[in-house]
Amino acid sequence: MDGELLARAAELIRAGRLVAFPTETVYGLGANALDPAAVERIFRVKGRPASSPLIVHVDSPAMARRLAAEWPPEAEVLSQHFWPGPLTLVLPKLSAVPDIVTAGLPTVGVRVPAHPLALRLIREAGVPIAAPSANPFTHLSPTTADHVREQLGGAVDLVLDGGAARVGLESTVLSLAASPPELLRPGMVSRAEIEALIGPVRLAARVENGTQSAPGRRRVHYSPRTPLVMSRPGKPLPAGRGVHLTRGGASTAAHRVEMPGDAEAFAAALYDTLHRLDRQGWDWIAIDEPPGSPEWDAIADRLWRASAVE
Ligand code: AMP
Ligand code: MG
Repeated sequence: MDGELLARAAELIRAGRLVAFPTETVYGLGANALDPAAVERIFRVKGRPASSPLIVHVDSPAMARRLAAEWPPEAEVLSQHFWPGPLTLVLPKLSAVPDIVTAGLPTVGVRVPAHPLALRLIREAGVPIAAPSANPFTHLSPTTADHVREQLGGAVDLVLDGGAARVGLESTVLSLAASPPELLRPGMVSRAEIEALIGPVRLAARVENGTQSAPGRRRVHYSPRTPLVMSRPGKPLPAGRGVHLTRGGASTAAHRVEMPGDAEAFAAALYDTLHRLDRQGWDWIAIDEPPGSPEWDAIADRLWRASAVE
């Protein structure tokens, strides 16, 4: 990436504008987290309700500590182990973090992303960057710069292209403001990996629409426009013209796409596959139910949400 483009991106962030940038999870729609008017633009462009808090991206644990009112031993251990990486820590916030960033909550979600461009952008801008996924609210997250351009187009001041996201699923979100710590969103950093370092972690209950106990946890989310249905052996596929995403098993569908059998490779391919099929105008997309083993937890969570009917 040429340094001039990056300098311009950092300048736009400092000027209160929006820059879409790559992370290892998905592409983010970034703004200066300390500038409420800039953050307000994120909500407007995404059509995101004000009740949905944003993750703040920082370049180091030191920058995270300037936003958090507390830094418990668990935060030290987990940040040392997983950052830069796909784990967001929710901590009590300092008043320096505008309320609009956290949807009025007394806590802030922070993480150090593991993509060199994201880190350079935060460093050059010199401010923490609030960034949700760079897509309209409830839609599929973007894993390439093209997905961002297709979904948000001219509404973004600049899109930095850093190639396809390596992880491909949104970060694990862990609240350290709760005791015991609470897993708010599963991701590719697993509950078992976290528990091995800090002991028992409570699993937040799955919530249906309208009954959520925490913001940002409504069921319908991460959805393609094409209806997505879970398929399992013996369950008939819907009528009409559809495509079946299989994992080695049999299918009665006329059209099928073979997905990787390994959880990490599956996660990395999932959103790009759904974006591509979404453009093809199928009546439905069926996808094999994921295995019940822990490394598939985050994928099962996203598919459960993506297959919900609005
Ligand atoms: P997104 O950036 O669109 O992937 O969504 C951010 C997610 O982070 C939300 O769904 C929330 O679950 C979570 N999150 C961010 N900040 C907080 C917070 N202060 N408290 C609880 N959850 C948070
Ligand atoms: Mg999102």
